[in-house]
Amino acid sequence: MANPLYDTLFAPHEGKTKPFLLLPDGGEVSYTAYLDTAARLANTLRDAGLKPGDRVAVQVEKSPEALALYAAAVRSGVVFLPLNTAYTVEELSYFIEDSGAGLVVCDPARRELLAPVAARLGAGLETLSADGGGSLMERARRMPTRFETVDRGEDDLAALLYTSGTTGRSKGAMLTQRNLLSNALTLVEAWRFTEDDVLLHALPIFHTHGLFVATNVILAVGGSMIFLPKFDIDQIIANLPRATAMMGVPTFYTRLLDDPRLTRELVAHMRLFVSGSAPLLAETHRAFEERTGHRILERYGMTETNMNTSNPYDGERRAGTVGFPLPGVELKITDPETGEELPRGEIGQIEVRGPNVFMGYWNMPEKTKEELRENGFFITGDLGLIDEDGYVHIVGRNKDLIISGGYNIYPKEIEMVLDAQPGVKESAVVGVPHPDFGETVLAVIVPEKEGRPERAALEAAVRENLARFKHPREYIFLDELPRNTMGKVQKNVLREKYRDLFTG
Ligand code: ATP
Ligand code: MG
Repeated sequence: MANPLYDTLFAPHEGKTKPFLLLPDGGEVSYTAYLDTAARLANTLRDAGLKPGDRVAVQVEKSPEALALYAAAVRSGVVFLPLNTAYTVEELSYFIEDSGAGLVVCDPARRELLAPVAARLGAGLETLSADGGGSLMERARRMPTRFETVDRGEDDLAALLYTSGTTGRSKGAMLTQRNLLSNALTLVEAWRFTEDDVLLHALPIFHTHGLFVATNVILAVGGSMIFLPKFDIDQIIANLPRATAMMGVPTFYTRLLDDPRLTRELVAHMRLFVSGSAPLLAETHRAFEERTGHRILERYGMTETNMNTSNPYDGERRAGTVGFPLPGVELKITDPETGEELPRGEIGQIEVRGPNVFMGYWNMPEKTKEELRENGFFITGDLGLIDEDGYVHIVGRNKDLIISGGYNIYPKEIEMVLDAQPGVKESAVVGVPHPDFGETVLAVIVPEKEGRPERAALEAAVRENLARFKHPREYIFLDELPRNTMGKVQKNVLREKYRDLFTG
């Protein structure tokens, strides 16, 4: 018997003195040290009564120990459930209850607040690092570094990862060993990772991007990661010279571009910049290339499927697209009404199938049935098209589609026109109820600090570029857009806020 995920990603590095994590203070954590800590933690998890298949809910700041807990869970067959550090106690109690977690691991500062919740739900509660009252790490230090890896199959659950909650309540995506493993190995090939790579890691480790993309890819090749607690521009600039690759979200790139220290020389030796999790503006793509000579590689993924598509490593990285389906991933565009596949160039819902696609939503058999077809295709909830060269374009979310007077309106098309106008920092276009048209178009504009654009100028730009039925009926100026903790714009909040604008 075996444990494919542990055997492939972790076990080959046992005993290696090579650094796995390079810390910003100059310290490092070798593979041996990392895996020894993981083995000790695996012993403490077992001691705490966790059995294979039980869930461990982990809400802790990013640290080498937190990453060791991930390896410990994999090794002991416990389902890893990382949680966003920004979640409040109320939010946490939902996740703990929904998942039926056997153990909750938190930071010392949260312990007191969480104690009644854990007690009510019958879950154990531990801190990872010292808090005076004993902690997992404190006990782990007294544990042996021997641990017999628990047998698991490729179809066994490895992680329960909650979606970001951009469109509604977060759902628990059940990810198997196969999901995580296939994705890591595919990305190594697609992005040419080797053991010589040093990845600049400034992402949180509680979602797919930081954990199952960045970390697993480095583990798969035995490379190193510069492990920054968070995105801090000074630390990024200081550490870029010792990195070979960086994975980031679009705001990493806009913040880098805002900094005069980003020069061609600073990143001359880098081989790869990846962006994902949210759309990278074509403008950012161009500005980054102009300044550094690097074309950012944009990819598309989600909690339920890990990575679906990527721009090519060698071929043309096309701005405004997310590239091609990764090897092993099938992607098609279908009619939301009939489910029939649509011809190239037409916008429809994006469906994907492959070893990367999750098992279903935890505790939500109905929702799973709705979104995961019997033939294995997952209806992602995103809208997109495949262009004549095969590049996939994301047009927005199904839930954000505006239907006005019988016309389908894609907010992104309007946002692109508005974003290009002087004085517009960013925009969000949503549909709100309208007595005559069912829904109508509302544009929410965040002006640049230097001065807000005239409404007349925006109207003129819209008239020039877009058919009449797409013109916003109203413009609202806000200092910032509502975002969830992942930095994604929450259009449902805008829709709710302005629902009575035309009907009230
Ligand atoms: P929820 O499902 O709870 O509403 P969420 O979909 O935002 O939240 P995630 O799984 O973290 O939760 O995000 C996946 C989504 O992020 C995708 O469905 C897609 O809409 C968006 N996304 C990811 N990468 C890109 C990209 N490169 N371009 C545009 N959108 C992207
Ligand atoms: Mg989603």
